Amino acid sequence: MPPAAHPLTAPLLAGNRRALAQAITLAESTRPDHEAQAQQLLAEVAGQGKQTVRVGLTGVPGVGKSTFIEALGVQLADAGHRVAVLAVDPSSARTGGSIMGDKTRMPRLTVHPNAFIRPSPSGGTLGGVTRRTREALLLCEAAGYGVVLVETVGVGQSETQVAAMTDLFVLLTLHGAGDELQGIKRGIMELADVCVVNKADTDPAAANRAQSELTAALSLLTLHSAVWQPRVLQVSSVSGAGVGSVWEAVQAYTATVDIPAKRRTQTAAWFDELLREVAWRSFLERTDSAALARLRAEVLEGKLTPVQGVKALGGFAASVDV
Ligand code: GDP
Repeated sequence: MPPAAHPLTAPLLAGNRRALAQAITLAESTRPDHEAQAQQLLAEVAGQGKQTVRVGLTGVPGVGKSTFIEALGVQLADAGHRVAVLAVDPSSARTGGSIMGDKTRMPRLTVHPNAFIRPSPSGGTLGGVTRRTREALLLCEAAGYGVVLVETVGVGQSETQVAAMTDLFVLLTLHGAGDELQGIKRGIMELADVCVVNKADTDPAAANRAQSELTAALSLLTLHSAVWQPRVLQVSSVSGAGVGSVWEAVQAYTATVDIPAKRRTQTAAWFDELLREVAWRSFLERTDSAALARLRAEVLEGKLTPVQGVKALGGFAASVDV
């Protein structure tokens, strides 16, 4: 007899918000029985969702992320899309929620019947937070949310992680005294499929300059063979001007790029990453940590080369091929 379906599966697939919130809570739990249930649920709802769009979004604090998400989200939700907003913020463990912790950040979207907003899972490493957000994303899709926005703060490694779980990545920037390029880490520029110059209403001339500079910078970063040339757009999240053009860029992107292929590559990379993590943990569990530390010290002192050091592991750990 096949095992019974998880009790949350049916209401989740029917789009029940309470079931979705409970499912995400289950996926965030570190209790082994919860984890098993969450994995059962995820397996049962896999591939059941209709076509969806996953948009990653970043920008330094104050750039206007919540204002922009509120403007775009309400526009989409009013047009009948079901919109979910998630966040990756590993610092929320320390600050008690520096991102998405405060529902008043998006007052209209929070109460919109077509929207679902979930704060960043708190606690744990970036890897842990990323995994839980990734699973929350899949659960939102299963519940019929066709647009998922994943927000992150413009610090640390979280952008790379968000880009690895979304179809395209939007970078929010500001126009400024010519320093907008220096303020943005090159690595983040390289992730951007769409770049938004926000607060264009405050200084239209500066916004124009920033748009040209960013367009030039991005065209240098992009390979000529690339299928997609990143777009730079101007927006006022407060008035809503230009917000529609960002959605048009998202649609153009998904019409141009092979999204199913991109998602398969992302899933394969996620599997490999988990595998490395598990293999590393199990290696450490089976290994004498003091001996490992001595070996590392000998390599640092130049007594052994790194290859000799790793080969010497064979004496006290599972044998290793280098
Ligand atoms: P976040 O930290 O990136 O989420 O930034 P917020 O969305 O909280 O915005 C920071 C401040 O900038 C708030 O006072 C917003 O009202 C303001 N703001 C955001 N977008 C715009 C915009 O397009 N124009 C103007 N004038 N102000 C904006």
